[in-house]
Amino acid sequence: ESRRRSIADKVKSYPDFPKPGILFRDMFPLLRNPTDYRECINLFVEEIREKYPSTEVVVGIESRGFLFAPLMAQQLNVAFIPIRKAGKLPGQTISYSYALEYGNDTIEITRESIEAGQHVVVVDDLLATGGTLSASIELMNKAGASVECCMVLLELCDLKGRKKIKSPVYSMIPLN
Ligand code: IMP
Repeated sequence: ESRRRSIADKVKSYPDFPKPGILFRDMFPLLRNPTDYRECINLFVEEIREKYPSTEVVVGIESRGFLFAPLMAQQLNVAFIPIRKAGKLPGQTISYSYALEYGNDTIEITRESIEAGQHVVVVDDLLATGGTLSASIELMNKAGASVECCMVLLELCDLKGRKKIKSPVYSMIPLN
């Protein structure tokens, strides 16, 4: 618990960013402290080792998921693969489109990066409404992968995004 508190203390909140009425959470101050950053990766890795030991791939969501997922994959000695916005990945891709408040978004993975039946963990920095993570699960399912767990550093609990997500969710720091 004290390990998580030290991490939580480093997260800064900015009212009215990027728009009026939004309370933006910034985790970059935490990454300036190598001990806290390492501890964060360790806590994620411990959770996977304990609860999801069959994990074969750690999937990171562009862009802040990339701050955590590759380091976790290294410690677990498993593959890291990226989920990116459409049009960024070369070669054959699998894509999934989903509705946003205004318009649509499409996310992709490299087709050859994942094999049907693989056990994956999906990582992002923050869970808000759950739109990003649930779209990522759909994409993984389209690729035939089995999502063992979704992991985030921060969860904005009031938004109840967790309800939208059909896999288990681990959030290191729940916020109100
Ligand atoms: P959701 O799709 O509504 O759950 O939003 C989650 C996505 O929006 C994540 O990929 C976050 O990076 C981003 N996001 C939403 N709110 C914040 C915030 O306060 N700080 C940093 N990222 C945020």
